[in-house]
Amino acid sequence: MIILYGLLILIGLIGLIFLKKTMELKKGKQMAEARLSAMKITRIASPGAVKSLSILPLVDYYASRPDLKTEPGVSYLVTADDTQILMDVGFNKKKEHPSPLLHNMKALGVSVSDLDMIFISHAHLDHLGGMQDQKEKTFSLSRGLVSIPDIPVYAPVKLSASRWNQGPKPQAITEPTVLKDGIVSIGVIPRFLFLMGDTPENALAVNVAGKGIVLVIGCGHQTIERIIERTRRLFSEPIYAVIGGLHYPVFGGRIMLGPINLQHLVGSDRPPWTGIQAADVESAISAIQKVPPKIVALSPHDSSDWSLDRFKQAFGDAYVELKVGQEIVI
Ligand SMILES: [Zn+2]
Ligand SMILES: [Zn+2]
Repeated sequence: MIILYGLLILIGLIGLIFLKKTMELKKGKQMAEARLSAMKITRIASPGAVKSLSILPLVDYYASRPDLKTEPGVSYLVTADDTQILMDVGFNKKKEHPSPLLHNMKALGVSVSDLDMIFISHAHLDHLGGMQDQKEKTFSLSRGLVSIPDIPVYAPVKLSASRWNQGPKPQAITEPTVLKDGIVSIGVIPRFLFLMGDTPENALAVNVAGKGIVLVIGCGHQTIERIIERTRRLFSEPIYAVIGGLHYPVFGGRIMLGPINLQHLVGSDRPPWTGIQAADVESAISAIQKVPPKIVALSPHDSSDWSLDRFKQAFGDAYVELKVGQEIVI
């Protein structure tokens, strides 16, 4: 009897939290929209360009080889000419040391000491190195000491160095910013999500000479429609490639709590009973088809197999599998 009462109270409490968070959504969305329209986005007159670019997934949900670790998180090594950028630092769900990121870096011959820049797309646990980092507003490459050279670290919110990688202090950048010749942060596109609240997110845009803009995206909470719109306003060059997470956990997800698809619940600015739908995937596909890029590579870390298949069918030869260890050379 006591257990039954306890269970009823728990269900009631969860119901109340859901109700409160759903009510917060409307106001939060209005505020995010107001912030977005207040941003003055002007064309970047001289973004510069790089001659070569490659993207090597270091952490994601699928791998190209059995010796590489996988998880529902993201870390990519973006090499633009001789600049090595570590974009996001994975999830490290099991709090390991070495983390899946360090394990895969070693297996792929990538060294922390060779990095020139760290770029954090947004402050979610699957990109910062774990739940503790999300709570403490830090980022961690592993759950043991890692020495990072004195390189710039960029994030869309104020972060501090974690106790595991005390080193360079992250700088918050929210406006579109040229980080280095040809390497640009497109700036924050504000979004307010159910449960997660305010989610400012940056994406990388690399201008490759003779080809155009290569977008490298973290979770894609901004929505790809708005990322494309922002990119068009910033650059006169065409969009050559769209690579990374777009958050379509439709008919399945990568983080399940029993039957509950957590990514479906938290990754939307709609109430939980609506969430992200198949129609959103179709809308994203048609927005990208209007570009249309030469390369489309969807991250499996926050999109379901159903969504990956839809992208594969829609983009045919332009679709490239995104897997740990499989380098995408532009
Ligand atoms: Zn993510
Ligand atoms: Zn996210």
